[in-house]
Order: sequence, then C-alpha cells, then structure tokens
Amino acid sequence: MRSRCVAGGILAAACALATTAAVAQQPAQTPPLPGPGPEHVVLMADVGRRDAAAESFTAPLAIAAAPAVPASDLRIDGDRLNGHLLELAEFGKNPQGGVSRVAYSDADLAGRAFVIRLMHDAKLEVAIDAAGNIVGRRAGADASLKPIVIGSHIDSVPEGGNYDGQVGSLAAIEVAHTLAERAVTLRHPLEVVIFQNEEGGTIGSMAITAGLTDDDLARATNSRITVREGIRRIGGSPDRLAEAVRKPGDVAAYVELHIEQGGLLDAEGIDIGVVEGIVGIRWWDVAIGGVANHAGTTPMEQRRDALLAAARYVDAVHRVATGRSGRQVATVGKIQAFPGAYNVIPGSVATSLEIRDLDAPVIGALYGQVRREVEKIEQETGTSFTFRQTSDSAPAPTDARVRRVIDEAAALLGLTRRTMPSGAGHDAQEMARLGPIGMIFVPSVGGISHSPRELTKPADVTNGANVLLHAVIGLDGSRQAGVATAEPAGLPADPKVGGRWLAFPGTEGAHSMIGPPHERD
Ligand SMILES: [Zn+2]
Repeated sequence: MRSRCVAGGILAAACALATTAAVAQQPAQTPPLPGPGPEHVVLMADVGRRDAAAESFTAPLAIAAAPAVPASDLRIDGDRLNGHLLELAEFGKNPQGGVSRVAYSDADLAGRAFVIRLMHDAKLEVAIDAAGNIVGRRAGADASLKPIVIGSHIDSVPEGGNYDGQVGSLAAIEVAHTLAERAVTLRHPLEVVIFQNEEGGTIGSMAITAGLTDDDLARATNSRITVREGIRRIGGSPDRLAEAVRKPGDVAAYVELHIEQGGLLDAEGIDIGVVEGIVGIRWWDVAIGGVANHAGTTPMEQRRDALLAAARYVDAVHRVATGRSGRQVATVGKIQAFPGAYNVIPGSVATSLEIRDLDAPVIGALYGQVRREVEKIEQETGTSFTFRQTSDSAPAPTDARVRRVIDEAAALLGLTRRTMPSGAGHDAQEMARLGPIGMIFVPSVGGISHSPRELTKPADVTNGANVLLHAVIGLDGSRQAGVATAEPAGLPADPKVGGRWLAFPGTEGAHSMIGPPHERD
C-alpha cells in the first residue's frame, strides 16, 4: 500500500506509527459497501498504539468524530466468497459435478489465473515464487514483523470435488479483500499463499520449508509431466528453488481453513473444528512367506498357508488399533496372494500396514504390538513375515496459542466448535517447520471428500472464513481493545524473544492439547 508519509526524521517515525489511521482516511480503494464505510473503521488497538509524537502529527487525520467500529464487528462477504467458489468450479469441471484440476494441467493453469485476478481485486501484491506458489502480500503497519500467512491449495485429485483446498484458498483471499475494503491495516504483514500441487504430496509447501530433492523433482505427476516440468509450466524456476525456501522463524503464524473431509462435525452438528494437529502417517510393505502346494493332496494340518496367516494378520491389526483408548487408526489396505489359483495353497502374500496418530510414540507402540501378534501368527501357521517401512511423515501438532485464538474467534461469532485431529495431510504440516500453525475445519456433508459428491454448505464456508478473519485479527493482536479478553491473545512483537514456539514441536506433546479450550495451554 502506498504511504502518505512525506515527512522526515521524527515525523516519519510518527507517520509510520500512524499509518493505520492514515489509510482509514484514504479515498476508498474499492466500491463502497453498505454499512459503515472505510472512513468509519479503525481498529481500536491501533488508536491506542499511537504515542504522543504520533498524536500531534496525526491530529489532522484523526477520526475524531467517526464512531470507531471495533474489529470484532468485521465480517467477510459470504455471498462473494461462495460466488467465487462456484466460478472456480468451472475450471476443470467434469460431468460428475466435481473437478479434475490436477496440478500443472491446463485446468490448473486456468484456475491459478482466476485466483490471481481475485488476489488483485483484493488489493494484494501478487508474485509467483520460484517453486510456483502464488503469494499475495498485504503490508502491515510494522514492517519489522514477520508475516501472518493464510492459504491452502486449488489443485485437486483426479475426479475430485469443489471444496478440498478451494474453501481455504478463496477464504484467505476473501479475508484480505475484507481488510482492504474496510481499510484495516494489521500490525503484521499478511500473506495469502496458494500452494501448488498439494495433492501430489504437498510439493509447493515442501518446496518453501524443507526444500525439494532431485527425486521429488523427477517424480511423475497426474499431468504426465514431472514435478520439475510442472514447476516451469506454472511460472516457477526449478533451477532457483533455493530462493523460495524460508527459514524457521520467517513466519509469525500459519492458519489454514479446510473442509474436514471426515464426518465428525456433520454428524454432531458442530460448526467449527479446532484442529489439534495433523496426524503422523507411517507405511510398511509386508511380505508373508509360506509354502505353495497342491490344494487337493495337502492335508489341512500340513499346510503353511500364507493367505491364512494374512487373514489373521488383518484381524490382529484391527484388534491392536481398537484395543486402546485414543483416536489412532491402523489399516491393511493392500493384499495379493501368489501364485493366485483355485487349486494352489498360497505360498506368499504381499500386503501392507498403515498407522496414523497425532503422537509418534503411539505409532511406534502400535507397531510393536502388531509385531508381537505377528510372532504368534508365524508360529501357528508356519509362515514368516517381513516388514519394510516405506514412508514416515511426522505428526504436526498445532500451536496452543493459535488454537486458543481460533477458539476465541469462533466464540466471538457465536459458533459451536470442538477440538479434533486432522486424519488427512495438509500444507499446514509442512508450514509447521517455519512457525506456529493452526487449522480451522468446517463440516463436510456426509464426511465425503476426494469425490465429486464433496459438499460444504455455503453457510459453513462463510462461518469458516469469518473464523479465519478473526483468527488473523486475534493473532495480530489488533483485537485487544475491541474485545474484552483477560490477556492479549496476539503474538509477541518479536517471536524470537517472546514465543514459545521456537521449541516447537518437541516440547509440546500432542496429547497435552486435548481438553477444554482454555485449559489446553
Ligand atoms: Zn486439501
């Protein structure tokens, strides 16, 4: 945003402090809205932050007569947001009613161009980083602060739906649009990031956090080109990826709104999910060796049947996962018997194991239990099992302070909410490497996702975006004076000094997060 400040020396400093009041006086940058116009809106906290020098300088600009609208009264435009969702659904639309907008496809490119237009409308300064992520930036009053980042993704799975990623992406742009048309300047810079290729393995968010390996870049995609070619296709520079990588501490906080993709909120009739963390996921390939033999001439007691062992193994995994309290899940999702004939006792089986939980030690303990059960099965069936771990993504707990701010935002809006884990992976899990994260869930009708039948009701989309708006305001610390809270909920001015999150995520066990909202810290 262009500054009106022309004075030097102490007046320049005062002017910088008064930027918020000044922008509130600027000619409207967007069409006038019904209700209080920009000239009436100033965050209460910003009025309070002006010091004496600023006061004398800004007196002519002060909004003495206008009733200040507290930040708590701000709302996003739900009709506009839901309209944008319908427009985005046109890019890659398929006959089943969903979209096939896989990363790097023509539909993805068209959807990205649409989103960039929306970002310009929202007065964001738009850039594409070297990894191909779309970054829209809105300046804050204090340029020394790290940005609050919000966003999600607009790529889909093949034959996906219209809500996964899209709700969070367009809601983030809508939050920026609302701040712009209400002439609200936050203390922190605000960044809206649309991460590229989330569905192909959080590629865009990995690129700016952990960085991409040569293997990642060589990976084939659903668009039948490699990630490297895809990044080039969407305007990134695969040879300059290092420029896109950010360091821990480069982000004040990351908040992502997303559809639940499960059926908990819908079944319980709850408006908002405050996400405790994104589960860790570990995969194993499991091979079972027995002896193939004639199905007619080999007596039952002499068999070493690998598929019988596999059947007992599948049941054992289910018993282990359900045998303790908690929300861990374990799945055997692949199974193939060899040689695979009516009249041959299966000599070997290729199968799998997946375990998910918010707590990595719980995953390890469950795996240990499965191995103990398997030893018994080996003895009973005369077979042998081998496990080879093929993938491990660590759990990403959300930050207690961000959760509290999300919970307070939902309370302010009169919405019901509950805490819950995310069983699906998200860009937020990568962003957890850079700073504190939080996630807001809205209901998925029937718990259906990654399907054309995916649906989140417009009212829930609007609710989620309003919670995102007020979570941003809460993290910024701008609501302190506008809403009665016992203590400021905002982030410390210097996260390196005041923030607990530098110890993140090791010191804060996922299980300590579970509990009533205000007892979680
Ligand atoms: Zn998603």
